[in-house]
Amino acid sequence: MMQEALANTPERQAVRDAVRAICDRYDDDYWGELDRTHTFPHEFCRDIAAGGWLGIAMPAEYGGSGLGVTEASIMMQVVGASAGYFAACSAIHINIFGLHSIVKHGSDAQKREWLPKVISGEIRACFGVTEPDAGLDTTRIKTRAVRRGDHYVVHGQKIWTSTAQQAHKIVLLARTTPLEECARPTEGLTLFFADKDPRTVKVTEIPKMGRHAVNSNQVFYDGLEIPVEHRIGEEGQGFRYILDSLNPERILNAAEVLGMGRRALDKAARYAAERVVFGRPIGKNQAIAHPLAEAWAELYAAELMTLHASELYDSGKPCGAEANAAKLLAADAGFKACDRAIRTHGGMGYAAEYHVERYFREMVACQLAPVSREMILNFLSERQLGLL
Ligand SMILES: Cc1cc2nc3c(=O)[nH]c(=O)nc-3n(C[C@H](O)[C@H](O)[C@H](O)COP(=O)(O)OP(=O)(O)OC[C@H]3O[C@@H](n4cnc5c(N)ncnc54)[C@H](O)[C@@H]3O)c2cc1C
Repeated sequence: MMQEALANTPERQAVRDAVRAICDRYDDDYWGELDRTHTFPHEFCRDIAAGGWLGIAMPAEYGGSGLGVTEASIMMQVVGASAGYFAACSAIHINIFGLHSIVKHGSDAQKREWLPKVISGEIRACFGVTEPDAGLDTTRIKTRAVRRGDHYVVHGQKIWTSTAQQAHKIVLLARTTPLEECARPTEGLTLFFADKDPRTVKVTEIPKMGRHAVNSNQVFYDGLEIPVEHRIGEEGQGFRYILDSLNPERILNAAEVLGMGRRALDKAARYAAERVVFGRPIGKNQAIAHPLAEAWAELYAAELMTLHASELYDSGKPCGAEANAAKLLAADAGFKACDRAIRTHGGMGYAAEYHVERYFREMVACQLAPVSREMILNFLSERQLGLL
């Protein structure tokens, strides 16, 4: 029933089919149970790693497949469209493109040491950027890394670090030069691939609305020592390195949300065809059918924008506006599809049995993170329209 514009070549369809075969081993009951019991999806992650999929966008010389963001997007769209929904995406997301800064700015020795282990699943990484007092204004982060000879010492606090409970390593952004000593706020921030040393790193789970299979955490750093050789690239350039990976991250996230929207819409259409009230299937009422048709069109349009953005990125062309627009359109279309799926199910939309309420709780996060709607609209207003 669904269009899948992203998988528009035989090779891309092969990626889709292989990832789908893994995802299909884990059904709604499996994921519903993990959500209820707040249990991390270890088996699913192991299967994805065993298939080599964590290395889809990693360079071949370090054991990856060397494919582009388009193929990675296809993979994540399939994962989003599976019963695992956003939880399944979040369990592996950071491995797919979050280590791009190491690929691009890390030394050969770092890549040789880390990337094969990340690809095999031996090392799990998490992403420590957001802080309670800085929010989306990343340059205002306060976590400090002070150099002492051959290592840095880190003190500070991060919030929302997803998968920190399971992670061995943290892609960590910290300030190495105080803000007031920098010519620009974007300077003086440094990126590390730090060990999560339990003696100096304390992790506390944040109770939240959904995606319970994958934890998000407050992380407290109290004297974490990071060897200089675990610094990524140059001191003070961390913000620039993070910016480098923003466009592919937006695109991947758009693809995930599209998959999620499609799954919700599929369920809604099936229910609308089967559920009989007043002597006929509820889908025979235009009030039920039309919003679903609208969601179909909006998801398809957002998918075309996502494909356009990913192909621009893969061919080395600028894609900031397109990647942001794709994320905006996908998140809106996905949210609407999920909302309509709940309403189509009526009272049963609110019951755990049909899983659409789990989908909805997870979908809400995609309006907020990794970047909010408002910040995307700010970006487009400023860069495309010369406003703000
Ligand atoms: C489920 C989940 C998982 C996450 N995982 C991670 C992770 O693994 N690692 C990590 O580092 N972070 C993670 N985050 C953090 C996420 O990236 C931030 O929550 C997000 O960037 C928003 O920051 P904030 O909550 O501090 O919002 P704030 O910056 O406090 O903003 C609050 C609201 O104000 C709006 N706003 C702020 N400034 C402006 C402005 N100038 N113009 C218009 N509107 C504005 C925002 O759009 C938002 O709606 C996660 C968050 C969630 C919810």
